[in-house]
Amino acid sequence: MAKRDYYEILGIAREADEKEIKRAYRKLAMKYHPDRNPDDEDADHKFKEASEAYEILSDSSKRAAYDQFGHAGVDGQAGGGFGGGGGASFSDIFGDVFGDIFGGGGRGRTTRGADLRYTLELDLEEAVKGKTVQIRIPGHTECEICDGSGAEKGSRPETCGTCNGMGQVRMQQGFFTVQQACPTCRGAGKVIKNPCRNCHGTGRVQEEKTLSVKVPPGVDTGDRIRLSGEGEMGIDGGPPGDLYVQIAVREHSIFTRDGRNLYCEVPISIVDAALGGELEVPTLDGRVKLKIPPETQTGKLFRLRNKGVSPVRGGPSGDLLCRVMVETPVNLTKRQKELLEEFQETLDGGDGNRHGPRKTSWFEGVKNFFDEMKF
Ligand SMILES: [Zn+2]
Ligand SMILES: [Zn+2]
Repeated sequence: MAKRDYYEILGIAREADEKEIKRAYRKLAMKYHPDRNPDDEDADHKFKEASEAYEILSDSSKRAAYDQFGHAGVDGQAGGGFGGGGGASFSDIFGDVFGDIFGGGGRGRTTRGADLRYTLELDLEEAVKGKTVQIRIPGHTECEICDGSGAEKGSRPETCGTCNGMGQVRMQQGFFTVQQACPTCRGAGKVIKNPCRNCHGTGRVQEEKTLSVKVPPGVDTGDRIRLSGEGEMGIDGGPPGDLYVQIAVREHSIFTRDGRNLYCEVPISIVDAALGGELEVPTLDGRVKLKIPPETQTGKLFRLRNKGVSPVRGGPSGDLLCRVMVETPVNLTKRQKELLEEFQETLDGGDGNRHGPRKTSWFEGVKNFFDEMKF
């Protein structure tokens, strides 16, 4: 079953703001909460659906990924938040959702982690068909020795005496009192007397992590996928940054891509070009037959509909455009040369007025050019 659109689930417009999203979710959660609808599978499904939609749309970066790539952009990122098992109580949910309205707020000074960028190289086939890729990225995790506090085992960070834990101090400058970050604790509000040796007091250690990135079909060089919360970890309990996976598609030996269309060159023999024939041409889904009409000139483009790329942002598939290139035969035997000479003699006057439309017009062009010069 296809997943329903998150906006549709919540019954809101695509440009709905945070408050509208919250309001819509709250209404649905109240209505379908399992506590109110025991043993009602339909209500349970609707409750989970609404929770997932809320989880994605209430997070600006997940919402952006969803807006850009649809469900493919956020798959696997939802469903962790509310336990899913129907055991969550009202207070669990509304504590989470409405905490910021009903005064959470007192979290102190935190710093959001830095965003990271990762360039992901893909083959053309992978970019067109989509793929789940494991990537290893450098990152930080909480130090296990000190549980992220930065203080040596057995000790704890102490409240900074200079600023009494406020992180800021008032300074008199002429007539003005200015506030600035506390010089002792650099704004953290606490000091570490015995820094943890494992993390040098930072509370974080460097560690590579492996992430699974779901690349939706149809991406192209320059597209990026945002993995919310997978950037550097935050400082002092701040939220982590995001990871941007930047797509770079490698050059392909046969196809070049221009948006939704693919191009390729197909060599054909002089005989097939003259008499017409059937060629096998490659597509990303395997070989297909292409009928070449008689008297096909070199450079002619043939369009194979829908054999291009389905764009990641939706819309119709592109086409595959095959340019046929007539090849001059090489390594001819004596007999083959004779046949060509014989053939040449059959052409009118040798320069082929009737048989070489291009050549004729080219010679005429040259003649006109000299005529106009009139020395
Ligand atoms: Zn201080
Ligand atoms: Zn540590």
